[in-house]
Amino acid sequence: MRILVIEDERRVRSFLERGLVEAGFAVDVAADGETGSNLARVHPYDAIVLDLMLPKRDGLSVLAELRAAGRATPVLVLSARDEVDDRVRGLDAGADDYLAKPFSFAELLARLRALLRRGTARPSLLEIGDLRVDLVAHRAERGGQRLDLTAKEFALLEYLARHAGEVVTRTMISEHVWDMNFDSFSNVIDVYIRYLRKKIDEPFEKKLIHTRRGVGYVLAAEP
Ligand code: CA
Repeated sequence: MRILVIEDERRVRSFLERGLVEAGFAVDVAADGETGSNLARVHPYDAIVLDLMLPKRDGLSVLAELRAAGRATPVLVLSARDEVDDRVRGLDAGADDYLAKPFSFAELLARLRALLRRGTARPSLLEIGDLRVDLVAHRAERGGQRLDLTAKEFALLEYLARHAGEVVTRTMISEHVWDMNFDSFSNVIDVYIRYLRKKIDEPFEKKLIHTRRGVGYVLAAEP
């Protein structure tokens, strides 16, 4: 899942970026409203964390523009101004949730995960054959055996599992599992697919990750 953080306070921004990356998200950051708005237009983020008081363009106008363009990306608004007015204006402008500063990272993460689960009937446990992917505990097991995955491997598996049975292209993977520094000419996705196969498929007779040559990959119990 790929998140955009729009926040001008450097300390808060890097605190969020570090925490979200550790939690397995791909994260892009913007330090002002204009940059944030441009990034949000170009990349298909899974969620946006948006501060209200921003240089160049304030958060509310960024949000209003996003909604006017028909983008339904979940937006969590942050604001130091814990006033009812701001909260109401934020929600009126199309925010999905609101968090007043200062906040704990644990709370932000819980709210963000709730937003990501909302709307599209996303369950917290995905099962593909004997593979179980627990999206809340961030754990996966196959045949009852716990799989030891890195944060990035889990993020890739989560994306494949959310689209189980569908062909997932390299572009889709790069847009949702990697951040904007992703080099589209690198073979990093193939490398990570190889890592996943080693852990998920190699020890087992039945393979779950299937290659569609020239197109992408499918995670499915049947080829
Ligand atoms: Ca601010």
